[in-house]
Amino acid sequence: RETLVEVCRLKKYFPVRGGVLKRPTGYVKAVDDVSFSVYKGETLGIVGESGSGKSTMARTLLRLIEPTEGNILFDGEDLVGMTKSELRAARKNMQMVFQDPFSSLNPRFKVSKIIEEPLVAQGNFSKAERREKVVSLLKKVGLGADALDKFPHEFSGGQRQRIGIARALAMNPKFIIGDEPVSALDVSVQAQVLNLMKDLQDEFGLTYLFIAHDLSVVKHISDRVGVMYLGRLVEIGPKKAIYEEPLHPYTRALLSAVPSTNVDAKRERIVLKGEPPNPANPPTGCPFHTRCPLAHERCMVERPELVDQGNGHYVACHLYE
Ligand code: SF4
Ligand code: MG
Repeated sequence: RETLVEVCRLKKYFPVRGGVLKRPTGYVKAVDDVSFSVYKGETLGIVGESGSGKSTMARTLLRLIEPTEGNILFDGEDLVGMTKSELRAARKNMQMVFQDPFSSLNPRFKVSKIIEEPLVAQGNFSKAERREKVVSLLKKVGLGADALDKFPHEFSGGQRQRIGIARALAMNPKFIIGDEPVSALDVSVQAQVLNLMKDLQDEFGLTYLFIAHDLSVVKHISDRVGVMYLGRLVEIGPKKAIYEEPLHPYTRALLSAVPSTNVDAKRERIVLKGEPPNPANPPTGCPFHTRCPLAHERCMVERPELVDQGNGHYVACHLYE
């Protein structure tokens, strides 16, 4: 398989300031040494609770926020170290669709202006060309030309997300990151938007990184799935392996909480102890040990690394070393 994006040991640490002098007193390790690849044409789903660092990871990956450390190879070229103009050129190929189409679409702009904005910034298109492109993009996402002169508030949540997707497609990107793109939508609308994204992926040969806190959403659209906990990737593998043979105790707990319609899945419900720890003061050793039903002495002192269990299924847990 060809790799489109390769993330190597990516870290994003935010300083925590304290005292009257607001001096740095420590760090929140929002993304802590994360490595993975995204293959051309696939959808990699990333799952984790809020605060697990998945949104920060996505933004750091596009260098919308600067990484503390690590490398991000896009089509073989490292985004880290690119100048602003190099980065601007590379970004045409990478777009983001956000969770909340309310706040990501400018409420004072008409839909035509919202979608053509990236084309205007690019500067290579005449007004007529832009118009034509916007109408065809609206059609691709299932909206008519009557949407052109309306404002975002005149649309439903699902329609607004379609507009956000049309905007992301304007520059013909290769790679789209969806940061919980359907989390704010009604369940009935979620499936429509997911199906649309799948169709567009096939039509345009897109590669997706799809972020969600919900394993059932990711299951529908992903080819592979990664699980994040406290800024770390704790398991990643083919979808079938993650859903049918999850290895990490955290993944098992997340899956056991998903209501199953499958009679074969007689999974025991695993209830996690307590809340996720404060990321500014994470546990020593395995970050999951304070909540893990299988934690043992070693877990409190030694941090497990991701280890290949075969067939591209990796897990970071001492039980599998
Ligand atoms: Fe649980 Fe230990 Fe595995 Fe961490 S390393 S998930 S604490 S068993
Ligand atoms: Mg988020």
